[in-house]
Amino acid sequence: MDEYIEVVLPIPIEKAFTYKINPADAARLRVGMRVAVPFGKSKYYTGLVYTLGVTAPTAYEAKEIDLVLDEVPTVNETQLKHWEWIASYYMCTLGEVVRAALPGAFLLESETVITANKEAEVDEEALRDDEFLVFEALQHQSSLRVQDIMAIVEKKNVLQLLNRLIDKEVIQVHETLQEQYSPKMVSYIRLDAAYDEEDALEALIGELSRAPKQRVAVLSLFQLQGTTEKPVSLEKLEKESGVSRTVIRSLVKKGVLEEYQLRKDRVSYDKDSDTESSKDLNPIQSDALENIKQQFDQDKVTLLHGVTSSGKTEVYVKLIEETLEQGKQVLYLLPEIALTTQLIERLQSYFGRRITVYHSRYNIQERVEAWNNVLQCREKASIVMGARSAMFLPFKDLGLVIVDEEHENSFKQYDPAPRYHARDAAIVLGHLHKAAILLGSATPSVESFHNARTGKYGYARIDRRYGEVLMPEIELVDISEQYRKKRMKGHFSERLVEEMAEALEHSGQIILFQNRRGFAPIVECTTCGHSPQCPNCDVSLTFHQYSKQLRCHYCGHHYGLPEACEACGNATLDTKGFGTEQVEEEVKELFPEAKVARMDLDTTRGKHSYAKIIHAFEEQELDILVGTQMVTKGLDFRNVRLVGIMNADALLNFPDFRAHERSFQLLTQVAGRAGRTKDRGRVLIQTYNPYHQILQQVSSGDYEAMYKEQLYEREQYKYPPVNRIIKITFKHKNYDQVNEAAEWFSQGLRNAFRSQVLGPEFPPVSRIRNQYIKNVLLKIPGGQSLTQTKKSIKRIERSFNAISKFRSVRVIYNVDYV
Ligand code: ADP
Ligand code: ZN
Repeated sequence: MDEYIEVVLPIPIEKAFTYKINPADAARLRVGMRVAVPFGKSKYYTGLVYTLGVTAPTAYEAKEIDLVLDEVPTVNETQLKHWEWIASYYMCTLGEVVRAALPGAFLLESETVITANKEAEVDEEALRDDEFLVFEALQHQSSLRVQDIMAIVEKKNVLQLLNRLIDKEVIQVHETLQEQYSPKMVSYIRLDAAYDEEDALEALIGELSRAPKQRVAVLSLFQLQGTTEKPVSLEKLEKESGVSRTVIRSLVKKGVLEEYQLRKDRVSYDKDSDTESSKDLNPIQSDALENIKQQFDQDKVTLLHGVTSSGKTEVYVKLIEETLEQGKQVLYLLPEIALTTQLIERLQSYFGRRITVYHSRYNIQERVEAWNNVLQCREKASIVMGARSAMFLPFKDLGLVIVDEEHENSFKQYDPAPRYHARDAAIVLGHLHKAAILLGSATPSVESFHNARTGKYGYARIDRRYGEVLMPEIELVDISEQYRKKRMKGHFSERLVEEMAEALEHSGQIILFQNRRGFAPIVECTTCGHSPQCPNCDVSLTFHQYSKQLRCHYCGHHYGLPEACEACGNATLDTKGFGTEQVEEEVKELFPEAKVARMDLDTTRGKHSYAKIIHAFEEQELDILVGTQMVTKGLDFRNVRLVGIMNADALLNFPDFRAHERSFQLLTQVAGRAGRTKDRGRVLIQTYNPYHQILQQVSSGDYEAMYKEQLYEREQYKYPPVNRIIKITFKHKNYDQVNEAAEWFSQGLRNAFRSQVLGPEFPPVSRIRNQYIKNVLLKIPGGQSLTQTKKSIKRIERSFNAISKFRSVRVIYNVDYV
């Protein structure tokens, strides 16, 4: 009798497909193993075995699988459960989750693009005939598709061959979305291999008798290599030998020493003795830790709310230590790996080789390696630190999940599906493993704080900075007054210039923050700073250049741009914004002596450029750093005396119901960069609205006031955490078609949900890559079943898809849209 299995394919189709298997495969196949299967006329995919022993399909004739790729499952059952939850909660297919979760090298398919691996040296002798054919073909062509390779080796089945070539580092799988992650590199020194023999070394030392410094360098290196298995860094050798870099490098030139580079986060720690022991907690930290553990005992997700620099990380470290002692794994999620090298280094100093850093921008080989380390429960993967995709790794026994900076909205995946929120999906993962779950932030999201307030989450607080360090002093500078009195120098108020001069005089460093996010400009009055608001929603209206209209992109309310400001009556409405580049130029004019650098997307694109700027600032080679949000992310600079916020209003007026919450978070986080040592730091916030409640709350550090007010507004306007929201986006290249489709769908939604439907509305940027976009927002009240709601939406979608002119319109769901 034939046997059948269900296979999940990594594509957006609702159902798993049934395939036929032979008895030998039937005996060894397990759920979670990868199989190569044919699909359609000539394609094939790598899929995951989903169900064993199913009956033959009735609607189509099952094809046979081509190949079993695994001996043991690549994906375990807990992962599958977790991914099913993601697919169902975030309204996408399991296949889409599989595609996001597995490293590309695990999912070879007919369309996959293969390139030569230029970094590795290939030993041609070691290649088999078919491997060599592919290797050779890639010398003449920069890339090949799997289909081309099938033709080259005249075989239909090339997956095994390709997997061998990946293992041998001959080829790379190309992913179009793969951006280059640029890790920090460190120089290491070793003796040239020629001196491995003792005789050679002795002879060398004899030769160097006339160059005493060089001799000392070689001897120190020899000694260092004898005492540790860790590679010896240039810096360490310099320090231990007391010989300068120039001398060491001259030995490199001579060929006596060899200099090589290693990625800072990939250094392997071979001895536990190289790690530091964790710090003793102060009483406030200990209290928080005890409190957290009590909440954990009640199986509660717990929020650690500790002001910037309060020592949250040290509390995490204690929890991690205890989890490792129980022999369990730890998942430590961060919003953005590239921006947190300092934190990773710190944890590595405690846990050394037990940490694996995982990032979706790492190359394929590294991701496969990390996957396998976790799968095999290697010690190296006891702690996994990573951005959101790290949660997809094959954990076996998670004991602790930490979501650091839980308020960060970059935890939400925007595009493509699955559009999941990593914090929330990690909580579900934690529950599946019965792990303890800790969320940490200095400025929790309104959602998480609400959960803590209502008793759903546990809560622990640290409201003082570690070690008597004071919170920075925050001053609000009214720039409308400064403009009136003609006291502004460019975008700098008199106060800011004064404080900058003062900081520089005391050799303190300065961070200047200018946020330039926002694609569609906000209209703002240059006299009073007023920005027109929507009467129906809690957002600023957005200026649409083309139609010269002000529009609300939630409810569609709109009118022509008024001649004069509605608040003060002056004809001084302006849409002009200014960016970091202009700030940098102005600083250079104001302080020609100071060393200034800029950190934003434009200046950090190149390889290592981000790390270079951070390093230069750490080493105090820079006086002033001008930057966007990037400067807010967890950087711990000792010597920052002043933080200047160029214009807080642009943030406050951003057209989003979360704009005020985000402004509070962002400003508090930037302010937190100031004065992390004994000297009290100072923060200057330039604004047209010094009496704005959010700015008052930031300057007094009053999180709870912010929370109460925001919660009230969310209740009024029915936004999260009181309601849930699903954003539905329609996309099509034809304007009329997208309009009609969105209207039809929304009518269906209105019939089902009445006033909970907002829109459809064009977003401020209503056409991207020739696709018109229209959005509908559905608000779902607390009592209403989310599952039922989604079912109704799906039902509407099915009728929608039955209409032929709508079939080519893409419908995209974003659940818990942030
Ligand atoms: P947070 O994560 O809350 O911003 P950190 O954990 O970075 O705060 O702590 C701020 C600074 O105080 C760091 O330099 C850290 O090393 C130091 N620190 C925190 N707790 C302790 C402790 N218990 N003993 C010694 N130093 C500590
Ligand atoms: Zn509105």
